Formats: sequence, C-alpha cells, structure tokens
Amino acid sequence: MSSIDRRNFLKTLTAAAGASVLSIPKAWSASAIKARVVVIGGGFGGATAARYLRMLDPGIEVTLIERGTRYTSCPLSNEVLSGSRDIKSLQAGYQGLARRGVQVVHNEVTQVDPVGKKVSTAEGNSFSYDALVMAPGVDFDYGAFKGLTAELSETRLPHAWKAGPQTLLLKQQLEDMPDGGRFIIVVPKGPFRCPPGPYERAAQVAMYCQHHGKKKSKILILDSNDSFSKRPLFEEAWKALYGYGQGGMIEWVAAANGGKVEEVNPSAMTCLNGFDEFKGNVINIIPPHRAGKIARDAGLANFKDAWCAVKPENMESTAHKDVYVIGDACVGGDLAGNNAFPKSAHMANSQAKIVAASLVAKINGMPQPTPVYTNTCYSVVAHDWGFSVVHLFRVENGQWVYIKEGSGISPVTFGTKEAPRPVPRIYRKMEVDYADGWLRNILSDGFS
Ligand SMILES: Cc1cc2nc3c(=O)[nH]c(=O)nc-3n(C[C@H](O)[C@H](O)[C@H](O)COP(=O)(O)OP(=O)(O)OC[C@H]3O[C@@H](n4cnc5c(N)ncnc54)[C@H](O)[C@@H]3O)c2cc1C
Repeated sequence: MSSIDRRNFLKTLTAAAGASVLSIPKAWSASAIKARVVVIGGGFGGATAARYLRMLDPGIEVTLIERGTRYTSCPLSNEVLSGSRDIKSLQAGYQGLARRGVQVVHNEVTQVDPVGKKVSTAEGNSFSYDALVMAPGVDFDYGAFKGLTAELSETRLPHAWKAGPQTLLLKQQLEDMPDGGRFIIVVPKGPFRCPPGPYERAAQVAMYCQHHGKKKSKILILDSNDSFSKRPLFEEAWKALYGYGQGGMIEWVAAANGGKVEEVNPSAMTCLNGFDEFKGNVINIIPPHRAGKIARDAGLANFKDAWCAVKPENMESTAHKDVYVIGDACVGGDLAGNNAFPKSAHMANSQAKIVAASLVAKINGMPQPTPVYTNTCYSVVAHDWGFSVVHLFRVENGQWVYIKEGSGISPVTFGTKEAPRPVPRIYRKMEVDYADGWLRNILSDGFS
C-alpha cells in the first residue's frame, strides 16, 4: 500500500463525525518505536492483523508468534476430499509478512501476563507489548463424546476441522471405503467454525463417491442441532445432485430425531446416541469447540468459560485492557445468540483490519474509526455448483447491528413464490469460480 493509499484508508476509517479522540499514552509515544504490538496466532485473523498494522504504520513494531511454519486454509479444504483441489493450493508461508517488517517468531506461546503486559514462549523467550492481539483460533472439547480422545482424532477418527494432516487422513479413509460403505459425519452443537462446513463436506464426499465407483455408498450426517446454515440451498443441491433422504446418497438426522451422538466406539466403528447405534466405515467426528487454550489460560474466556467476549467498537477484550481478541476465539454480537459473529475466515480478516485501524488511530492520536464488519462464506457442493452468504454488521449505541440491506444469500429459486423458476446452472457455476477467487484473495490479503 502506498503512503497515499494509507492516508486515504485511514481517512475513510476515521471519517465518522463526532468520533472521540484518544490521547497517545506516554509510554507509547516516548520512544522511536511508536508502540509494540504482539500478535498470537498466524491464521486468517492474526496474519491479517500483523500485515495491516505494518502497512498502516511502519512505526509500530509488530511481532507475530505462530507455532507452525506453514499455514493451511480450512476454507475450501473439503474440496481436497473430493480430489477437486490439491492441499498445496490452500497453503501460505510467512515470508511475505517478514518482508513487510513483521517479526515472525515460530514458537508456542505458553503464557500471557496481561498485567505485566508480557508473553512467553516454550523456548523461554518473552516479549513485552503495549497492545496484544490474540488470534489463536479454536481448540476441541474431546471429552464431550464418550470414547473420543485427541489421539483417536489424529489416527482413526479424524475431525479434519483444522486443515492439514487430518484432511489427508480423512481423504485416504474415503478412498479406502468400499462401494456401499457408510461415511458418517458427526456435527457438534454450535457454535462451531464455518457453520455450513459439515454440509458442504457431505456434498464433496458424495461427489467423490459418484465419480469413483462408490455410487452405492451413503453419507450419514448425525447432527447435534435441529437445523443448519443455508439449509434450503443444501437440500436443493443434495436432492438434485446426489439424492437426499430415504434412498438417497445423503441422509441428515436432526438432534430431535436422534442425531445427537453421545458416544463413539472406535473398535466397533459405531456412534451411539443413547438408544441407537450407527455403524460406519469412516467416522468423521467433529468435537465441540472453544477458544484456543492460550486465550483460556490468559483468563480471556469470560463467556460460558469457552469464548472471549469483546467490545463491539474495536474488539478489545472485556476481561483485560489492551488485549484484543479476534477470529474464532472471540464472541461478539448479541450474546444471547442473535446476530452473533459467524466463526469464519472472512470475519476474522474483517476483525483483523478493524483492530489494526483502531490501534493505529489510537497510537497516532487520531479519532477512532467507525467499524463495519463483513462476512462472506461460499459453499461448493459440486465442481459446477456453489452458493454463498454475505453478512454485514455495524455498531450502534455499543451494540452490533445486522445490516439487512447489504447482506444476503444466494437464491434457491428465481421468479416469484407462486411461479418459481430454477436458478440457471451458470449462476451456480459462477459461484464456484468466485469461491476460488475469494480464497486466493484472502490468502494474499493475510500473508503476502
Ligand atoms: C472445513 C472448513 C471449511 C471452512 N470454510 C470456510 C469458508 O468457506 N469461508 C470462511 O470464511 N471460513 C471458513 N472456515 C472457517 C475458518 O477456517 C476459520 O473461521 C478461520 O480459520 C479462523 O481464523 P483464526 O485466525 O481465528 O484461527 P486459525 O485460522 O485457526 O488460526 C489460529 C492460529 O493460531 C495458532 N496458535 C494457536 N495457539 C497458539 C499458541 N499458543 N502459540 C502459537 N500459535 C498458536 C495456530 O497454529 C493457528 O495457525 C472453514 C473451516 C472449516 C473447518
């Protein structure tokens, strides 16, 4: 970004009339380095925050601490299962951030001292900060399903809900499944990252079966919820492409109909809901989520002991000052569950930019920007059939407000209610191309 672009970007962000001016704390303005920001976690949230902080103000020292040396995107990782996509197309390194002057440290953060404003790593190094951006993503509650352990997820019953080795293991299991075999997807109670993800996965697995001599196979979704994201769009596509319900390739069992799994038996390869037993050749069991361990250990998970509540205007934690939580680890919106932030890469990217702009404004004594949060989520159900949803949120009187006018979802049908017409296939195909473009764009926006 050029300095002119940077000025305009900040001007736009700070254009809100009447925004309050925050003074620069002395400690932040005294030294040549304007401020030190540490970012924990280099996923869609953390990498984007680090990149935008440096782009907006090179006077800020930014240290990104990430345990891995290569990031693998979950978005579109379901396409790896069907063979439509190579996992390498989902990966990004951290050299781009380093070139922008971000100090990239590959290590595990083991401790955060929010009072002393310091974080420590497994190697024994510590980093002081003026502001901390916490973006560790999620961890899994394996204990929620009797019989499940983290080790089983890595070896026999992969969740593949963090893309990487488990994605490839699940793909291998699908390839090894005989024709007529049953692939079970166990969906946890929400909230979980990527609300439409399990249903997209069912379609990608069905597509694989259809094209690889497994047409007699079944995909059974055992769900701890009674409905799901983009349901009419998924059901329409499942019906048209793979057969849905009794006799179809895909079957969905709602919690109310016995879909809520309580226990898994890896030797018998069965899932139990308390009264029925479901046997599978492959069991893809996704455990319930909670904020990443380091966020919970730091005392930030003050919502249901699982999620980190943040202030709507700038993502600052409600538990600790000068700590900002972004991405899947945070909870925002109406905490009763309405209009809550979706846990998505797009939302993490949007939150990252809002934090970066807010911190840069604060550090430079500029008015605080007025944020608008955006979310987009594509679901690809066949190589030529996709659909999407867009959510926008603004902040009003300290509350998130869903912006109905700019938000929307792909149509299920064209025409009127009385005389519906099918959506032309070219529209569905175009959304697959948009999804691919979106992925390349968001990876570049975070990691280049
Ligand atoms: C199958 C699937 C499909 C999806 N599809 C979409 C989609 O189409 N669109 C969309 O917008 N979203 C999608 N998502 C959701 C998306 O992947 C997440 O919402 C997004 O990754 C959240 O970003 P994050 O930065 O919060 O967390 P992450 O991307 O998980 O990044 C967290 C990072 O923090 C690091 N970390 C954690 N703890 C520590 C520590 N103590 N020390 C050092 N490093 C640490 C981790 O190694 C990780 O790299 C999908 C998810 C899945 C599972």
